[in-house]
Amino acid sequence: MKSCLFCKIVNGDASSDIIYENDALIVFKDIHPIAPVHVLIVPKKHFNHLIEMVTSEEGRAVLANVAEALPDIVRAAGLENRGFRLVNNCREEGGQTIAHVHFHLIGGRTLARELP
Ligand code: 5GP
Ligand code: ZN
Repeated sequence: MKSCLFCKIVNGDASSDIIYENDALIVFKDIHPIAPVHVLIVPKKHFNHLIEMVTSEEGRAVLANVAEALPDIVRAAGLENRGFRLVNNCREEGGQTIAHVHFHLIGGRTLARELP
């Protein structure tokens, strides 16, 4: 997807502060962090949103890649042995602003129990 910002970051055509990368995904710092740690876990393959991803066999495999890498990502984010919040905003009503599936990993302070 040429016009997609996260595809550009994945391809190195836009800059980002990468903290972790493997064949399936890239993790970089959110440009507007809401906590001391706020990174985005971004599958390299473009899916518009979570439901589009999990309704294909290939997308479910990518979701499994995220699950497999999660302990290493949490360690790379400096959150080993700490708590965090993992969030997906799905589609416009869910608060999604970038139409390339991603997960927010947020932590580094005690987070309010209420979701916004
Ligand atoms: P969403 O609202 O789609 O769940 O999350 C999109 C996130 O991407 C937001 O938290 C926003 O701050 C972040 N973001 C938007 N543009 C950029 C950018 O150019 N670079 C980085 N690193 N993050 C961005
Ligand atoms: Zn994309």
